[in-house]
Amino acid sequence: MTNLNQPPPDFTAPIDIASSSRRSADVQQDFHQKIPELLQLEQLIGEHGQLLHACCETTVLHEAMEFPLYSLRLGSSAPNAPTLLLTGGIHGIERIGSQVLIAWLQSLLERLRWDTGVQQQLQQLQLVIMPIMNPVGMYLNQRANGNGVDLNRNAPIDAEGPVPLLGGGHRLGPFLPWYRGRKRGQMEAENSALERVIRRQVFNRPFATVLDLHSGLGMQDRLWFPHAYRKKAIGNIAEYVALKMLWERSYPNHTYLFEPQSIHYLSHGDLWDYFYYQSRAQNQPHFLPLTLEMGSWMWVKKSPRQLFNMAGLFNPQIQHRHTRVLRRHIVLLDFMLAATLNHANWLPDKKHAEILAQTAKSLWF
Ligand SMILES: [Zn+2]
Repeated sequence: MTNLNQPPPDFTAPIDIASSSRRSADVQQDFHQKIPELLQLEQLIGEHGQLLHACCETTVLHEAMEFPLYSLRLGSSAPNAPTLLLTGGIHGIERIGSQVLIAWLQSLLERLRWDTGVQQQLQQLQLVIMPIMNPVGMYLNQRANGNGVDLNRNAPIDAEGPVPLLGGGHRLGPFLPWYRGRKRGQMEAENSALERVIRRQVFNRPFATVLDLHSGLGMQDRLWFPHAYRKKAIGNIAEYVALKMLWERSYPNHTYLFEPQSIHYLSHGDLWDYFYYQSRAQNQPHFLPLTLEMGSWMWVKKSPRQLFNMAGLFNPQIQHRHTRVLRRHIVLLDFMLAATLNHANWLPDKKHAEILAQTAKSLWF
């Protein structure tokens, strides 16, 4: 098989699988029951160490247990390589996002053994994945992290307008969901780890996209882009319209709604609003974060008993439906890889961008 580029120096550090070997048999058994996704990920890292450069970005402590937060990198380390960042499980209860990412990564690693098309893609592109962003929240089966903070309400950015009561983010306290954390406090350890990875691996690249996987209430799968904090169109709106059209022309039978989050509601502390403006401050030419909100009402509607089970509101509970969801988003993830790599073929020029910005106005603003 073709040799992929060597990793940059900071990724040659050994994986802290030590945290798994340090685990007592009791803790390992507990993890096996409550956060099997983490063990599956560690197994994948162990099996594919040659291709997959894994790094334990931080260790989150909860009740004397250590929860590693991994970042994985594969593909090109060239400074001009376009980059796709994939994140999942920011809300611990929405574990299906992590599962979709791990399943897709597993397929990608298998295909890398024999598929020269995939090998060539990864020779020219950097893929960064943080599949389990909130391991303590996932262990506890809750949205917030171990400190009761909603990681996607925790960035230092305030909404410019009314937000939904509680749901838009609040500072009343961690006993209520959607808690933002303390005013002027540092971001939570999980978000600081994400910021380090983005600064190290993403902002210094000329072109980058992000797909952050969530599952929420709603009938349809949605692809949301910033802003979440204001109703005004984002600066690179034309690029989002171009990406939306590329997706819809390439896969006309897929039914994701592709739209700015702000047309539904505003929220405080959105990570992707924050990182978008950080990327501008770093003079990064192109940074396009997207959030996938898998519509979980489809699963609930088909088995209403899920209504009585909190995890069932966010995750498919029946085996065939679960595997269907794992399959359902493969096309989107493959598309994101190809669109990132081939951005030069669809990014609008200045004149076209003006037309696309007008299109955005008529669609949403
Ligand atoms: Zn979520």
